[in-house]
Amino acid sequence: MAVWDDLVGQARVEEQLAAAARDADVFVTAHAAGEPAPAASKMTHAWLFTGPPGSGRATAARAFAAALQCVSPDRAMGGVPGCGFCDGCHTTLVGTHADVEIVRTDLLSIGVKETRELVRRAQLSPAGGRWQVIVLEDADRLTEGAGNVLLKAIEEPAPRTVWLLCAPSIEDVLPTIRSRCRHLTLRTPPVEAVADVLIRRDGIEPEAAHAAARATQGHIDRARRLATDERARARRAVVLRLPLRVGDIGGCLKAAQELVDAAAEDAKQVAEEVDVKETEDMKAALGAAQGGRMPRGTAGVMKELEDRQKRRRTRTQRDSLDLALTDLTGFYRDVLALQLRSRSPIANADVRDALERIARDSAPERTLRRIEAILACRDALDRNVAPLLAVEAMTMALRD
Ligand SMILES: [Zn+2]
Repeated sequence: MAVWDDLVGQARVEEQLAAAARDADVFVTAHAAGEPAPAASKMTHAWLFTGPPGSGRATAARAFAAALQCVSPDRAMGGVPGCGFCDGCHTTLVGTHADVEIVRTDLLSIGVKETRELVRRAQLSPAGGRWQVIVLEDADRLTEGAGNVLLKAIEEPAPRTVWLLCAPSIEDVLPTIRSRCRHLTLRTPPVEAVADVLIRRDGIEPEAAHAAARATQGHIDRARRLATDERARARRAVVLRLPLRVGDIGGCLKAAQELVDAAAEDAKQVAEEVDVKETEDMKAALGAAQGGRMPRGTAGVMKELEDRQKRRRTRTQRDSLDLALTDLTGFYRDVLALQLRSRSPIANADVRDALERIARDSAPERTLRRIEAILACRDALDRNVAPLLAVEAMTMALRD
């Protein structure tokens, strides 16, 4: 399976990246011969992948990284780079290639210190002789200071270093940085294409695959989770029941509390799965004695780890709330479609009764106001308003 097969509904982006990977060979040859790179090349040192959540920005960046490292003999014969089988492709995709650094943060921001380390790494010559690739999956989380550190590296890149930055939209990246990147926009893949991937690659039953693809509106990872994870389905069910429960103030407050609790529960689950092992590993690395007594002078390191884990819980909780708000927006978008007698298929066909009831009992103007209330809640969360306060304000507004 070629590295491009994971990209769903992105033919144009795929074409551009494959062309760049081909031109990249000319770069390598020119560099080896001590000649300057050809001016009209489709290859360049800094790329920015943007697209809505679920469109596969990080997948595209990783596929490109693999294609750059592809050592398939086909390639020399003019084949498309990125065979998916050779050592270069394979190790890039599983994250063990020596010249590919994939930075995926579970923190809310990427600071100056981490970025300096990356920049230092980017200046090294590739060990395997092709490219030194740095994939920054959350370039929107760079602090301003970190952005400035990165800017210098992008302005004067080492001859065979490539930066692949990913962000939801171009506005999420500092203007100075994005103006130096080649920009690729991924689109939300069509529902049919997502269902097809779930069936073909993940072996999910066609009916379940179509339902999940429709419910998540083209978000591949979420569709897969919905089709395979019982807990994800239960959580979505709670969210979609909410519109029927905001009839009175008591119901609003209770629904808000439940939504926030479910997000906290998500964060706790991640903590249980990841934090415990991480802490044990760290203790072992620091040489803790049997029984858990820590050697002298290691308290600071453990404190740093705890802080990191706390920030990760905050982010997980926020991401989980964000997903709930996305589902809720989808619900009211369906209500609006019914009210306006739109011909497009509704996303949440499994709760059609609730959709029809609310569509019947209210006017389109009110549905629009409700969608606005959800967007306002998301804004408030972005501005660090306490989650319960923001969600309560939203459920109260949904009642009006
Ligand atoms: Zn390959």
